[in-house]
Amino acid sequence: MLLIDTHCHLDFHQFNDDRAAVIERAREAGVTRMIIPAVDLHNCHDVIRVAEQFEGVYCAVGVHPNSTAGWESRDIDELRGFADHPKVVSIGEIGLDYHWDKSPKEMQFKAFIDQMQLAHELDLPIIIHNREASLDVIRLLSESPLVGKWNAGVMHSFSAPRPIARQALDLGFHLGFTGPLTFKKAQALRDISADIPLDRILLETDAPFLTPEPKRGKRNEPSYVPHIAAKLADVRGISVEDVATATTANAVRLFGLT
Ligand SMILES: [Zn+2]
Repeated sequence: MLLIDTHCHLDFHQFNDDRAAVIERAREAGVTRMIIPAVDLHNCHDVIRVAEQFEGVYCAVGVHPNSTAGWESRDIDELRGFADHPKVVSIGEIGLDYHWDKSPKEMQFKAFIDQMQLAHELDLPIIIHNREASLDVIRLLSESPLVGKWNAGVMHSFSAPRPIARQALDLGFHLGFTGPLTFKKAQALRDISADIPLDRILLETDAPFLTPEPKRGKRNEPSYVPHIAAKLADVRGISVEDVATATTANAVRLFGLT
């Protein structure tokens, strides 16, 4: 059974002491491929460096909405340079975050739109971070040139209401499910994961955050993807092998993994 963690921050300091061991544990758990998204321009160097060091580890380059306060259009040129690297498979994570007051909305819009344009130009999928900003995310996606492309990208750690799921799917996006799918209180999220098309679902940890049950309270890591896969299998009434086969094929197709 092979799984892919399409969103883990393995470059973060929480993994400085045991990064190689974490990746080895993931492989032993069947999670043979991982994608590390970047959060700002400086961080793009880090994700590329980690991806270069390990087989099966890929990365995305982009500027997270919380890091867009100083966004300038010329930052796109730097991102374009990073995206040239063979281990870069996506532009991300990009999007809107209204939970933390780190960057004015107008700056978040500008950075999101510019980066979507770059993804379109480079024919790369995008990894979307959306926190309490669903309506504006959907509006900006609808206006972007990515719309309707089958490989538009993924709504990372999906947690929005059902109508947003419907609209994101209609726009060509996949939905990524993380640890919260296993949380007791997340019945609404499980209901959504139960009846959307299986060929639009990705599994992610968002490690070191969002640790799934039964590991909740510990640092999250890619070897915990099977817990999310098992929950999804349970919710959909299919085998965990079928979940693994489908989600792995989805990730390979979307990100063009080898
Ligand atoms: Zn993330």
